[in-house]
Amino acid sequence: MQRDYELIDCTISICPDCLKRVDAKIINREGRVFLRKHCPEHGEQEELLEDDAEYYSKRFEYNKPGTICKSQTIRDKGCPFDCGLCPDHDQHTCIGLIEVTQNCNLCCPTCYASSIQSEKYLSLDKIEEMLDFFIDTEGGSAEILQISGGEPTLHPQIIDIIKLVRTKNIQYVMLNTNGLRIAEDEEFVKELSQFKGKFEIYLQFDGFKPETYMHLRGKDLLSIKRKAIDNLNKYKIPITLVSVIEKGINDDEVGQIACFGMETLGIRGINFQPLAFFGRKNIIDVKNRVTLTGIISQIDDQTKGIIRKEDFIPLPCNIDRVALTYFYRIGDKLTPLVRGLDIRECLPAIRNTFKFNPEDFLKDLADNAISKKGGCCNYLSLLNKARGIIPKSYFLKSEEEKLDYVTENTFRISISSFVDVYNFDMKSMKKECVHIITPELKKIPFSSYNMFHRGKWT
Ligand code: SF4
Ligand code: SF4
Repeated sequence: MQRDYELIDCTISICPDCLKRVDAKIINREGRVFLRKHCPEHGEQEELLEDDAEYYSKRFEYNKPGTICKSQTIRDKGCPFDCGLCPDHDQHTCIGLIEVTQNCNLCCPTCYASSIQSEKYLSLDKIEEMLDFFIDTEGGSAEILQISGGEPTLHPQIIDIIKLVRTKNIQYVMLNTNGLRIAEDEEFVKELSQFKGKFEIYLQFDGFKPETYMHLRGKDLLSIKRKAIDNLNKYKIPITLVSVIEKGINDDEVGQIACFGMETLGIRGINFQPLAFFGRKNIIDVKNRVTLTGIISQIDDQTKGIIRKEDFIPLPCNIDRVALTYFYRIGDKLTPLVRGLDIRECLPAIRNTFKFNPEDFLKDLADNAISKKGGCCNYLSLLNKARGIIPKSYFLKSEEEKLDYVTENTFRISISSFVDVYNFDMKSMKKECVHIITPELKKIPFSSYNMFHRGKWT
């Protein structure tokens, strides 16, 4: 008798019943990837990890070494109970996230932070301490900061917070928002426009159907989202849409969301996030969840191949949990950068970051092509393609004009999937690069924080 699956790998997972570490196998059954766990107390459990075993197997070809940063704890109980970061964490903080308040003007059934109406706000002094800590752990310069909550625009000193961040050595700032204040308070948006350049709004946007918003957010919010986008466009503040996707709720809308983002002025990217089961959303049909590869297939199906499966690559700094594609604009048309190229040979030229800077990109490509003594075909093709896309006039622009150029002429679709106690794979946990900066001055990977470390709010 043969087993009905192929063994791909072994890992450590979590038993969702007792929350203890358990041995797990990663298996391929009929083209889908499952985690098969064994808990001595609660027996065998099987959870869906990915819908596409082919992508899952190939993703290793994109893997790169992580970047080292300072750790704050020691190895003791084992991952994920030693956060963090502990010395075993394999990736630096690409995105540091500070929750400046627990207060929110919504009460989403899916909220990972279980936010509620509250008068709790971090003080400016505490935020400054956290920022300095974040920068120090990254060797004196941090990449991306997300100011989050709760709803951060409700913090009475939100403008002062962003001003403070801008005095620090942090390369890019995102304000994570549900968009309510952005839609309703134009004066506030005008104030935000002073931060243009290295600043964007990370706007929650889950689709177009009223029932999508009722289910995920408890309220039909589409007209508010549209108004928020209009207000941001009026003041030329770049937007990334962030869409939480749940099976049977809005997974039929991913193609429409992608096309809307590509066609709408001011939107520079979309981040899709398969719903993770923590916070208020902790009841789940695990066998039937949305996965990273499931979203890629649906984008391909629903856009009728305008965006293809092959246009996505695993993000080399976190191949398990992030996939993305970059587009460039010529005239009215957005074309995927990697289409027709094998990007795998160019991996040394891709930095461990989410940020895209054409100058860094060209320089890294050129350096690597030269170091290959004449350059391999794919380096040179990509370098030539990139040189053809980026006009010479770009290099004569001011810093602000360059950023406007990137906003107007590139577009990014990414899929970030976070792990919960069902699909927990320790290997991918150790590579997670979105880290919560806590008031106690720890850096805790986002998934681990929401599963195990989100405690009382200071
Ligand atoms: S998630 Fe990272 S920081 Fe946390 S225990 Fe595991 S390796 Fe250490
Ligand atoms: S998900 Fe965001 S908008 Fe919704 S309750 Fe939580 S913090 Fe507020």
